[in-house]
Amino acid sequence: LFIALEGGEGAGKSTQSALLVKWLEDQGQHVLLTREPGATDLGQKLREIILDPATGDISHRAEALIYAADKAEHVDSVIKPALKSGTVVITDRYVDSALAYQGSGRDLDVSDVERVNRWATDDLRPNLTVILDLPPKNGLGRFAERDRIEAQSADFHERVRAAFLELAAAEPQHYLVIDATQDREEIAEQIRARLEPLLPK
Ligand code: C5P
Repeated sequence: LFIALEGGEGAGKSTQSALLVKWLEDQGQHVLLTREPGATDLGQKLREIILDPATGDISHRAEALIYAADKAEHVDSVIKPALKSGTVVITDRYVDSALAYQGSGRDLDVSDVERVNRWATDDLRPNLTVILDLPPKNGLGRFAERDRIEAQSADFHERVRAAFLELAAAEPQHYLVIDATQDREEIAEQIRARLEPLLPK
């Protein structure tokens, strides 16, 4: 079972993924929590490059390819082996972040970004993607120091948010959209309710 958590900045993905791991383990599941970018040695180096404000402006296609390279390494060396051994894998960000940030956010052709990312991930798709939806002004307020992407314009973050919602609307059977202004226990409960029937016996 492969689950992705997605959403804008400060929507509570880390909090919810931690709560989800705990619940799944209580259900007797083997769980791996991982994240993008930066879950592998290569990914960690790429994450530093891509998020350091000192990197400045780079080609949007170059940026998209760096995120895609992180993903290829992540899928091949972490996600696929874990799924193969029957582990439930939760990833904090996945392909939809690329479609939303590098596609809609950066104004690249979303279908190009999608093709690159399908290739990078060997077309491995989550069984369920949870979108934690939050108005950007609520989420960004939490950061005193912003990384290179958080420092983008309000408009950029609005496009990212709209892109996540559009992806979910196109394939509701594979998505759960949650109002992330609710309190964390309510959110966790909604995720559990949707996942319960999907758990391996
Ligand atoms: O989720 P986390 O805060 O670790 O993400 C790190 C940064 O990378 C965030 O600023 C996020 O917006 C950015 N990011 C991105 N494109 C992706 C994945 C993450 O711009 N595909």
